[in-house]
Amino acid sequence: MSTSRRGVVVLGATGSVGTAAVDVLLEDPTRWRIRGLAAGRRGPELLTLGRRLEASVIALVDEQAAEDLKPSLRAGDPELRVGEEGLLSLLALEGVDVVLQGISGAAGLDASLETVRRGHRLALANKESMVVAGPLILEEAKRTGAEILPVDSEHSALYQCLHAGRAEEVRRLILTASGGPFRGRRADQIRDATPADALDHPTWSMGERITIDSATLMNKALEVIEARWLFDVEPERIDVVVHPQSIVHSMVEFVDGSVIAQMGPPDMRGPVRYALSWPERSPSTKPVFDVSDYARLTFEAPDRETFPALDLGFEAARRGGTAGAALNAADEVAVRRFLDGDLSFPDITALCSSALAAHPFTPHPTLADLERVDAWARCEAKTPC
Ligand code: MG
Repeated sequence: MSTSRRGVVVLGATGSVGTAAVDVLLEDPTRWRIRGLAAGRRGPELLTLGRRLEASVIALVDEQAAEDLKPSLRAGDPELRVGEEGLLSLLALEGVDVVLQGISGAAGLDASLETVRRGHRLALANKESMVVAGPLILEEAKRTGAEILPVDSEHSALYQCLHAGRAEEVRRLILTASGGPFRGRRADQIRDATPADALDHPTWSMGERITIDSATLMNKALEVIEARWLFDVEPERIDVVVHPQSIVHSMVEFVDGSVIAQMGPPDMRGPVRYALSWPERSPSTKPVFDVSDYARLTFEAPDRETFPALDLGFEAARRGGTAGAALNAADEVAVRRFLDGDLSFPDITALCSSALAAHPFTPHPTLADLERVDAWARCEAKTPC
């Protein structure tokens, strides 16, 4: 078994998905060989993880954080690499099989592209890669034979459900949404919502941006775009249903009317374990799932009037091209401004809506086109350009 250990790189190792990945890797260390770990600026945490997982190399994107970490390095520690280049260099290490992509935001796009260019499996938690540049990444993956395994819990569920039939037998993808902390509220009740209100997610524990995106339903909007590219299903055949318990992670309806759902506790270690281990299933050390703990599972239609962000996702998925890049970039800036107290909660979505409508649209963008639109939308969301 030790000869067939899978070589792993974890990008965003100190973030919420990275932390889940570390737990999974430690469940059965005989399955994995940790080649590299990368983080943005949390040096001491990264070094601790590097030592625990016996990583060969660690990379810190922030140069000052790397400088600060250097005095702590001892003989036998992982080699430290620095900057965006240092991070990308992990993908060129000998013996890499799978890259767990846990970087947050469109900043993760280069690493996703480089992973598939090199033919490694991309275990993708960075949904922005698909939202911004889905067709480009898929084209590159097709060329090199790289596998893309979603780590977003809904898409991991869809991936698993899709195995129950053939692609041409799929009628509909049904994405579940928790509804976030403001489910059931009316627009006038969330007008003055504060960052603390919006960060209080009922079922999932995640990073700041995705938690705010769950409150506006922009996260689900981005997931509609992600599903559209990842599974090559037109947006007209994608539905969203609110399921507050977050136990059913998504469903696939087939042409014969049969609906396959994937269930489990709301825990990112599930999708991470699946994406790293596929096509095998590696045992989890978690207690057995007790159905009676979840006696009441409920489903309801999303409130599209109070949470208009959802329809922006369908619009961007229908338009394709640069629409996803514009929507995502505007949202990254708008969420930051909301967290800084510089924007009201409803204005997050309003800003995204105007950036999507006004951006210089291109139907078949190159990477350079996408970067231009990303920069334009960021500027527009800071202050009208
Ligand atoms: Mg998700």
